[in-house]
Order: sequence, then structure tokens, then C-alpha cells
Amino acid sequence: MAVEMIVTNAKVLTMDAGRPRAEAVAVAGGKIVAVGSAAEVASLAGPETRVIDAGGRTLLPGFVESHLHLVLGGNELVQLQIGGVHGFEALKAAFEAYAVQYPSNALLMAQGASYEILDAPVTRADLDRVIADRPIAMMSPDHHTVWANTAALAAAGLLHGAAMPHGHEVVMAADGTASGELREFEAFGPILALGGEAHLQLGIATGGEPTPWPSDAVRAKDKEKIAAGLAHCAAHGITSMVNMDGNRYTCQLLREMKDEGRLTARVKVPFHFKPHMELSELERASAMTAEYNDDWVSSGFVKMFMDGVVDSRTAFMLNDYPGTTERGEPLFEPERFKAICAEIDRRGLQIAVHAIGDGAVRTTIDGYEAAGQANGLRDMRHRIEHIELIARSDIPRLGALGITASVQPPHPPGAMDFPMSTMETVFDRDRWVDAYLWKSLADQGAPLAFASDWPVTDVSVMRGLQAAMTRVPYEGAKDERVSLMDSLYAYTAGGAWAAHMESITGKLVVGLAADLVLIEGDIEAIDSGDLGKTGIALTIAGGNITHQGVGLAA
Ligand SMILES: [Zn+2]
Repeated sequence: MAVEMIVTNAKVLTMDAGRPRAEAVAVAGGKIVAVGSAAEVASLAGPETRVIDAGGRTLLPGFVESHLHLVLGGNELVQLQIGGVHGFEALKAAFEAYAVQYPSNALLMAQGASYEILDAPVTRADLDRVIADRPIAMMSPDHHTVWANTAALAAAGLLHGAAMPHGHEVVMAADGTASGELREFEAFGPILALGGEAHLQLGIATGGEPTPWPSDAVRAKDKEKIAAGLAHCAAHGITSMVNMDGNRYTCQLLREMKDEGRLTARVKVPFHFKPHMELSELERASAMTAEYNDDWVSSGFVKMFMDGVVDSRTAFMLNDYPGTTERGEPLFEPERFKAICAEIDRRGLQIAVHAIGDGAVRTTIDGYEAAGQANGLRDMRHRIEHIELIARSDIPRLGALGITASVQPPHPPGAMDFPMSTMETVFDRDRWVDAYLWKSLADQGAPLAFASDWPVTDVSVMRGLQAAMTRVPYEGAKDERVSLMDSLYAYTAGGAWAAHMESITGKLVVGLAADLVLIEGDIEAIDSGDLGKTGIALTIAGGNITHQGVGLAA
């Protein structure tokens, strides 16, 4: 086959132990056909071959984003961004400018509201002083809390409270009306629905499908949002991603985009199993897996949430939160969870569970262990998402059971954008040593996959890598960083393995997809504090250029 493209004069880091370093890669038919020295690969060039001189830049396998929310992220790119905003005046100014820009939006929605955005807990009265005559709301960076003004609460039917499933809460004020704070998806779903995008939230909220099935016009608009999200990810070097919410509708939009030539990354989409569902609903997971099963759009796994988040104290802990008698609760009854895991595993599907508190992590491991006992321990690669706190005695259980630690370098407070204050308020001092472990888990055998959880944090892999390499140990804790190469592995081959995609992508070896990312400069020579501002020169997915930075001559 004629070689279509050669990237040469690069520092090639293949992530393949057999040949870790090279200078050039050749591409044909969307696959890697040669990896070698510049001279070896140059000999394969024909008259039609496009030769890209990397100028000594670093060539890596395209990044595998192991935990993000593509549809939600794309949708949010057009909403008000208040990530750096602090204080009432700044908040009011931001909303007022946005309101002028979007005079007819039924809901003015802001993203990235810090839990400390005002100096006291935010109330609907605060937000009424921002804007009173239109529904407005703002989402916390972790996407587990929304604050809404009175107009929004009234329009959504929440002003006088609402019955909520376990773990979800319309917080009530002393006067018997909603305070303005809404905890977890089911509580703020009615607010988001005001914006006319409820059908895009189903993958995370209920795991259900939109009814009626969205029209061509609605799907076209939805695909525009996904396209915005994909372009944003391509600009950060991402060529594969594990979407951590989902339904068949998400798969279908992606397949249509694939057929339209607009899908710039491989996407895995789970079936989202909720606590109230019957085991028989897993038939939908098996059906999705059978229907979407190619190199670009696939399912094959089931996502569940075992708990919430630390900031709202909905993460399920083994001990009480400091200064309280609360420890959160598991969202699944543990014995039933074991039966659910056994059934998913029996169907040959992978399991991914959001577990943040040490109680949730233990309950999840127990479920996976029970699945292994029921069906025999096979190569299922069940995974735990986040693991913000873990009991010491549970650390070796991940490695022993083959459980992937799917962790997010941007998440530890103080590591990137999240404030250290979280550590002070929600983790006991004597447990800081067990918080956000990466190296300890890896050293005891757990495979690592790194991710951002975008739009919870910035999707930038290079910023995440900087956070991974510069993280300072918490008081009394060990250094939990892994090496630069191990971090890069967790963002590439490790992520591919954890997603059962290692026969498609994740390494630069002959026969795998031509999924490549070219980083500005020599990544091993860049000061770790500068990794985050290091640009992406080129992203290639399946042999097609999906992003080209300004630095690289064409
Ligand atoms: Zn997530």
C-alpha cells in the first residue's frame, strides 16, 4: 500500500516496550505501517507521500481521555463560563453581560461556579440580586451542585421542594422554601430542562432514551454541540475517549457523525445503570454493545455511581466527615450491587463505577470481587473512577482483582484548579495520607488510566500532565506522582488498555491506528512547570489531521 504520510525528524515515544523510541512514523490506510529511524522510514516514501518534518518535536500516540462527558462538555462550551469569578459584583457583571448577549434564552446557565464564589453559601436570594426577572442558574465545577434563582426554581417546580431519590436533594431553607442549592442530577435536572436540553442530559441523569426520538433538526443541533466538543478535544491532542455517561441516543449521534465524516475521535459510550432499574434493563446494555461495535463508536460497558462528591458531603465515607455525624451513603445497597455486578460481568460487559469516598470504593471492590467469584475471574478490566480516598487495606485489592484505577490528575485539591480548602473541610487530617493515591495504587498492581473528567476540569492533557508531575504531597503523605513516562502511558496505552482498545490504538506500533499527537518541543526537556502551556502542533486520528497548531509549517 502506498504510504500516504510520514512524520519524520521527531522524538518518537512509542509506549511500546519492544521499541520505545524512534524518529519517524509512516501512515497508510489510516494505520501505522512503519516506525523507525528517519532513514528507514524515508525509504518508504513515494511521489504522493506527504512528509511532515516534525523539527524535533515529540510524537506520541494520540491521547486517550479515559473519563469525560463529550456531549455535556460540547453543550457547555456555549454557556457562560465563570471559572475564575469570585465575589458578588463580578458574578453580577458576568451574568448581566451574558443576559444581553442571549436575550431570548429560557435559562441563563453558567458553568464553573466555585463552591466559595460568594463568601457564604449561595442562596436563591443572592442570585435574585444578580438577575431576578429571568431564570438563571450556575453549576459547580464538579457538576454535582447547581444554584438557581427564584425564577428558575419556580419555573422548574422546585420552589417548594420536591421528593427526590436517595442521594439527590432540593436543599430547603428554614422558611420551608428551596434555598437555591440543588444537589445531584435528579435535583437540578428540572432546572437544566428549562434550557431545552433535557434530552442531552439523559445519558447522565436517568440513562434513558429521549422520547419522542429527536427530529433531524434537533439531532443536527445536537451534533453541532458534539462537533464543538470534538474540536476542543482534538486541539488538545485527544484521539480516543471514554464517555462516562451515555445511552443509545449518544451512540446514534456519534455514528451519524462518523458517517458524515465529522467524528474526529474514537468514542466509547456506556449504558448508565441506575439504582432503581431492574436487572432485566441490562438487556439494553447488551443490545447497545451489539449495535455499536466498531473502531470508532462502541459501547461494551456499564457505568454506575456509587456515591456523590466530597464538597457536598455526598461521597460515601467509612468515617464521619470532620466535625459532623454524616458520612454519606452508598447509592446502591451493597448486596444488590454484588448481584448487579455479577449479572453485568456474566454478560461479558465491563463495569465502571464512580466511587469517591473510601466507603464507596470498598463497596465497589466488594461488588467486583463478588462478580469474579460468581463467574470466574476473567480479563474484564472493571474499573473504578476517581478513588479520592481509600482505606489502606483496600489498596492491594485493586491490583489483585485486575481493577483499573481511573484517576484524574487535575482533581486533587491544590494540584490544578481545585482549591486546597476542600482538603481542610472534608478530609480528616489523619486521612490526607490516603487521598488521591496514584503511585501507591500502581505500585501495588493497579493499572492506571489518566483523564480530566471534562467538563468537570479543563480537558487539556498537557495541563493534566503538569498537575501529575508537579503535585506536592499533602502534609505527612508520600509522593504520589508517577514518572513522566508512566504518566504519558496512563494518558495513552494505559487508557487504551483500560478501555479494551489496545488492539486499535494507544501505542505507535505497526498495525495499530494512525492516532498521533505531536507536542511542541522535547517533552523530556520541558520543565514540568511549563508542561501545561506546551502546545499541540498536530493531532492525527485514523490517519486524518484533526488539529494543526500554528507552530508547524504546512
Ligand atoms: Zn465524570
